[in-house]
Amino acid sequence: MNDWLTHRADVSPEATAIVEASDGTEWTYERLDTVVEEIAGKLAALGIREGDHLGMLMETRMDGVVLVHAAMRLGCVLVPLNVRLATPELRRQVAVTNLSALVCEAETESVARDAAGDVPVVSVDPSDTTLADRDPAAFTPADWSREDPQVLLFTSGTTGNPKAVTLTMGNLYASATASAFRLGVLPADRWHLCLSTYHMGGLAPLLRSTLYGTTVVLQKRFDAEETLSHLREYEPTGISLVPTMLRRLLDSGDLPDSLRFVLLGGAPARDDLIEGCADRGVPVCPTYGMTETASQIATATPDEAASHVGTVGRPLVFTDVSVVADDGSLAPPGEPGELVVSGPTVMAGYYGNPEATEEAFCEHGLRTGDVGYRDEGGRLWVLNRRSDRIVTGGENVHPGEVVDVLRDHPDVAEVAVVGVEDDEWGERIAALVVPDDDAPVTLDSVREFCDDRLAGYKHPRLLDTAAELPRTTSGTVDREAVRERFR
Ligand code: ATP
Ligand code: MG
Repeated sequence: MNDWLTHRADVSPEATAIVEASDGTEWTYERLDTVVEEIAGKLAALGIREGDHLGMLMETRMDGVVLVHAAMRLGCVLVPLNVRLATPELRRQVAVTNLSALVCEAETESVARDAAGDVPVVSVDPSDTTLADRDPAAFTPADWSREDPQVLLFTSGTTGNPKAVTLTMGNLYASATASAFRLGVLPADRWHLCLSTYHMGGLAPLLRSTLYGTTVVLQKRFDAEETLSHLREYEPTGISLVPTMLRRLLDSGDLPDSLRFVLLGGAPARDDLIEGCADRGVPVCPTYGMTETASQIATATPDEAASHVGTVGRPLVFTDVSVVADDGSLAPPGEPGELVVSGPTVMAGYYGNPEATEEAFCEHGLRTGDVGYRDEGGRLWVLNRRSDRIVTGGENVHPGEVVDVLRDHPDVAEVAVVGVEDDEWGERIAALVVPDDDAPVTLDSVREFCDDRLAGYKHPRLLDTAAELPRTTSGTVDREAVRERFR
């Protein structure tokens, strides 16, 4: 099987492949193919061969796209690394992924050198290690099969050290096709890419666009004002965002009518964000996914998002999601349990970590570590991570269940629910509430509200109010900071 760009350049050479948002440079698939062929030759001249692991330390830019395809042409496994990591973190990732070379850009070169150890570093920018100076060597384009590893991509490291996920060509192909079956593809589609390509949410649109023969508009990194102005200029039909980005965009102005969908994922989205999209005619598609499943597991349509605020929709075609209760049985609709995924997008394993791989799988498939439930209509709802679970008096409580109920309380604008260590109960349920318009919210009123809605042991025992919830840099609730308030 050819690499995807070879096929695309044969089929629609004149179609626009990529646009650099900052200066409007446009490359057709034919042009991209020519540059990729040259860069692949230069990498071959460095001794890079089929099966080698090729590191990439770059922000989103054309040379990065070239590298993604050059790796595929040579039959290399691409290893995108996070430019925001500190040198010791990068050093660890370089060490565990067995790189044959690390490709950087001007801005990342000194960090790349510090982190690379014995691994050769080359730059796509002018430098004494620049790739540009190499004479291309002859090479044979790789013959891919679906089982071949295509990418090693690190998880975000929310629950511990980031793990290197091995995704095969088959995983990425399945993800691209299933996404197309949910969202649809039009020949004139343009995707605005402002997520980093070292995370799944940024890499996936780039890869699938090559299969579709559509266009990707590249923005180095998200900036609300700048992104909004690019959106108005390039009028894309699709964009992926995390909730904080969408909120900032909407605070800055209106999104263009050209958008067919705004794929919103990576973290839980607040109900008022989804409701705001419905009010303003923004076609939001809440999605749930992870690195281990090559991005989307489930994706809601804009109609579903508006009629069932908070759902992430139904699983994509070919993807099966089981909800597994604590005793290992399958939970009926409405009952929460761990979400377990099987299907063609599920990773081959964690690279070089058989123990973690073994732990990640059970008889129903890949354990996501997330708790959620399926409603009667088959839609998925993600509540929280399993590690956020509260054990009080020997009973398990998923904080997401309590949050869902308290959000309906007329005086509650926002709420976070955590477990606070307690000698008697193990943990006690604590709620930090942001009241609506300074309404007095008391523990009694909250417990009364929970009376007919939640079992007694799930009621909050501690309550505090705040002007806003503490959040992490990625916009999720900082649960540790909430817990700290109650200690
Ligand atoms: P690590 O696995 O290293 O702890 P991580 O899980 O944050 O990090 P990613 O693969 O980038 O790494 O993120 C996937 C996770 O993001 C999911 O398992 C889930 O917890 C969360 N997530 C993604 N989309 C949603 C969503 N729509 N709603 C709630 N949570 C989501
Ligand atoms: Mg994870």
